[in-house]
Amino acid sequence: MSLLDTKFEKGGVIISKVEDLLNWSRLSSMWPMSFGLACCAIEMMATNASNYDLERFGIFPRSSPRQSDVMIVAGTVTFKMAERVKRLYEQMTEPRYVLSMGSCANCGGPYWEHGYHVVKGVDRVIPVDVYVPGCPPRPEALIGGLMKIQELIREEKFGGNREDVKKRLAAKSAPAEEVIMAEHPNQADRSKGQDKKETEVEETAETA
Ligand code: SF4
Repeated sequence: MSLLDTKFEKGGVIISKVEDLLNWSRLSSMWPMSFGLACCAIEMMATNASNYDLERFGIFPRSSPRQSDVMIVAGTVTFKMAERVKRLYEQMTEPRYVLSMGSCANCGGPYWEHGYHVVKGVDRVIPVDVYVPGCPPRPEALIGGLMKIQELIREEKFGGNREDVKKRLAAKSAPAEEVIMAEHPNQADRSKGQDKKETEVEETAETA
């Protein structure tokens, strides 16, 4: 559902729902808390730098949990740190969102088997809304994760269940190949051309 339902050109009137308007304003001003746990945090810092211009999406890091509505768990969550992560989460105001960045935060990463000190996934401590894979994920991947949170906010209903929205979005999401083909139809022709070229090269090599 888009923000704008109807627009009357002459009178300059637009019609929308209060719910959509509020969701639009929330998703256009997400404020992640700036704190990092390990190497993934370096990529998070790079994402906040001018190259990626996150502010064009209204995303602006804050230094206090009380001013933040998004927590990016960037790095290895040790048992010692897990308690602090939980406390910071509880200090954030509702509605709040959590993005787990990288293999360590998702499932323990390289410490999965022998890391006696590492929590095998931050979702054992706090609820996670979006997981970004990678070791570490690139800034583009983190931005993709933040966009997923925006999608989630856009679809939320007053008094609704966030888990239902997540299931609905997961069911709707098309395989990556279909998305690429839909957005870049020339890609299909190009890849066909590439296949043809490769076959020709193979045939020439065989006859030689
Ligand atoms: S996922 Fe990889 S890059 Fe990120 S904190 Fe763990 S070891 Fe470091």
